[in-house]
Amino acid sequence: MSESKRLTIVGAGLAGALLATLLARRGWEIDVFERRGDPRIAGYAGGRSINLALAERGLHALRIAGAAEAVLAKAVMMRGRMVHFLDGSQQLQRYGRDDSEVIWSVSRGELNITLLHAAEAAGARLHFDRRLQSADFDGRTAGFVDDRDGTLHAHAFAALIGADGAGSALRSELGRHVDLGERLESLGHGYKELEIPPSPDGGFRIEPNALHIWPRGRYMCIALPNDERTFTVTLFLPTHADKPGQPGFDTVVTGDDARALFERDFADALALIPDLARDFETNPTGTLATLYLDRWSLDGRAVLLGDAAHAMVPFHGQGMNCAFEDCVSLSNHLQAEGDLAAAFTAFESERRPNAQAIQQMALENYLEMRERVDDEDFLLQRELERELAKRHPDRFVPRYAMVTFRRMPYATALQRGQVQRELLVEATQERSSLDGLDWAWLDSEVRRRLPPLPGEEPVSTRATDAR
Ligand SMILES: Cc1cc2nc3c(=O)[nH]c(=O)nc-3n(C[C@H](O)[C@H](O)[C@H](O)COP(=O)(O)OP(=O)(O)OC[C@H]3O[C@@H](n4cnc5c(N)ncnc54)[C@H](O)[C@@H]3O)c2cc1C
Repeated sequence: MSESKRLTIVGAGLAGALLATLLARRGWEIDVFERRGDPRIAGYAGGRSINLALAERGLHALRIAGAAEAVLAKAVMMRGRMVHFLDGSQQLQRYGRDDSEVIWSVSRGELNITLLHAAEAAGARLHFDRRLQSADFDGRTAGFVDDRDGTLHAHAFAALIGADGAGSALRSELGRHVDLGERLESLGHGYKELEIPPSPDGGFRIEPNALHIWPRGRYMCIALPNDERTFTVTLFLPTHADKPGQPGFDTVVTGDDARALFERDFADALALIPDLARDFETNPTGTLATLYLDRWSLDGRAVLLGDAAHAMVPFHGQGMNCAFEDCVSLSNHLQAEGDLAAAFTAFESERRPNAQAIQQMALENYLEMRERVDDEDFLLQRELERELAKRHPDRFVPRYAMVTFRRMPYATALQRGQVQRELLVEATQERSSLDGLDWAWLDSEVRRRLPPLPGEEPVSTRATDAR
């Protein structure tokens, strides 16, 4: 790298704090500017979801940053989906082969604080209460505001990295300078968070080692466990009710409306959420959208990553995992390339097609979660998928597993997933069981359509504490 090793990161959220750690550990001089106060002093000021599912891609990045152990110590393992049917019955659908293939529920606030400590310990300079307001890319000066007193602070930068989330101010500033080809596609569905408190004896009220789902066709609820024995429930509904009798955030407005909806559609969950009406009325309704950009960088002067570059709907639980993968990729390109412009270009070429692939898979997964996990055809296809995965472990890996437990490019997971889906649909058409399947034909089709996957380096850190 010919230029001085100095970079300015905007946003000390999940990606900003991790990237600062990775780069500072590699000897970069890093300044990070965050619009909020220091959560280690003021307490975490919330923001988006309370907890998140951490998977292999994110965990791998945390291992590189030396933060995996601290994060896993407070995480709750989730083995699979616990599907809650309308009649109150439940079924656990495992995500992976065994407990080596699980995901982890982590608190956003605790994770952010762990990463801020890591960034500072690695030598990054953190500046809180500094909201990016303006960027002069020709003069290489950025203006930050302290929202507590309105004071303005100028900062001379070598290059700006936008880790300032879905509403990125750096993206707006870049967009005034060059055409980013920005498109924001709203999902037309929103979400509301509710809480299941601990049971009277202080334990979890429902199975802790699962991601709970109440699929109801056009809408659904999910619940992820928290370390302190609570669950965060997220109700996803269309913004506008599109059919009579179907709920939407325009018809379910009051706490009483929410209670009536839960009595009808989520009766077993209602019994677990004592403050449903209050939570519903007090908590904000979140919006969901996918952000597409044709361009993420401005030569060697600025680059976007994480949600600032490619916000996605949360239904594959990959937004943060993908953002963490971005951080590793950018750090590696900065290490390998001769100058910032080459590093930003190489980063963008590697990551943009992959971000688009996971954005598409996240949208598809909403349909799967809300209307397919309790459907007969889907369950038969899943049974066959498991069988083929056993027979051809080097070729047939379920798409969920490729995204969640492997680190192959998302675009590869999307492409192979399409080939696999076609085969599953073909083989199970007009069938109600796997009896009498032509296994010889299926085996030869797997070999013909799916080349062997290259091996990945083994996972080195596994948590032994399976709470
Ligand atoms: C309901 C929901 C559930 C989700 N569940 C999952 C999940 O299970 N698994 C998963 O992997 N992902 C999940 N995600 C996605 C995940 O939250 C995001 O992808 C992730 O937070 C992106 O990290 P980021 O650092 O890019 O942005 P953020 O986490 O949004 O961080 C941006 C930071 O920039 C700061 N900032 C903003 N503007 C400025 C400014 N002008 N100046 C300075 N600082 C600024 C913000 O205060 C914040 O600290 C979920 C998202 C939602 C909405």
